[in-house]
Amino acid sequence: MRTPLLAGNWKMHGTADEARTLAASLKSRLADVDDRDVLIAPPFTALAAVAESIEGTRLLLAAQNLHWEDRGAYTGEVSAPMLVAVGCTHVIVGHSERRQYFGDTDEWVCRKMKAALRHDLIPILCVGETLQEREANRTIEIVEEQIRAALEGLDTEGIGRVVVAYEPRWAIGTGKVATPQQAQEAHAAIRRRIAQLSREDVAQRTRILYGGSVKPDNVDALMSQPDLDGTLVGGASLDVDDFSRIVRFQSPWSS
Ligand code: PEP
Repeated sequence: MRTPLLAGNWKMHGTADEARTLAASLKSRLADVDDRDVLIAPPFTALAAVAESIEGTRLLLAAQNLHWEDRGAYTGEVSAPMLVAVGCTHVIVGHSERRQYFGDTDEWVCRKMKAALRHDLIPILCVGETLQEREANRTIEIVEEQIRAALEGLDTEGIGRVVVAYEPRWAIGTGKVATPQQAQEAHAAIRRRIAQLSREDVAQRTRILYGGSVKPDNVDALMSQPDLDGTLVGGASLDVDDFSRIVRFQSPWSS
């Protein structure tokens, strides 16, 4: 019932030319994929080049961040209308690297969610606990609160357009991956929280991605869990072979 979404976050990697080349390779390698959605999130400076390169394909384009205002004296920032104009349909919001290094708070994340939805961009909302929080058995409490704070003030229709990515911070870029059971437990809790904040049918339709050291050799086991609807991939999304294999994951639910 939920179409899987495989997303690649290229982070701060690639000039416009390098990104165009990577996008072109993915375009030809994934041309036959039509039963799942594939999305790439290059750096801001490569969005225009990648948009041109993937035009007419099923590949989706996302930015990695946005500002909540449409315009103004916000040096260095990029707004939702600018992302729409360059061809983005999605935007990553609240990635843990933004929260950790650039001061994104729950309140800012919420403002960014609203700005994205106001301009018909689909936000990919990232939530996840630190290692310390997991070791203190606070994972579910932490992600539930992040979900509540990010969705505060959104109506059911708005919540229904959101994609969530559960990304335990200790698993991002570390090579440590959550077990399928750990991921499933967090995803089920996130879905329950979304149902409480909107409606059960909205929660059942919401795609919840897992992110954190997803690789070709662990994607199938992760995707075999019932509440995992895709992946948000960092490092492995820069390698055409690895990302193509991740996109072609096999699970009991896939054809
Ligand atoms: C990410 O950037 O969202 C991520 C999950 O990175 P990695 O796959 O490298 O852990």
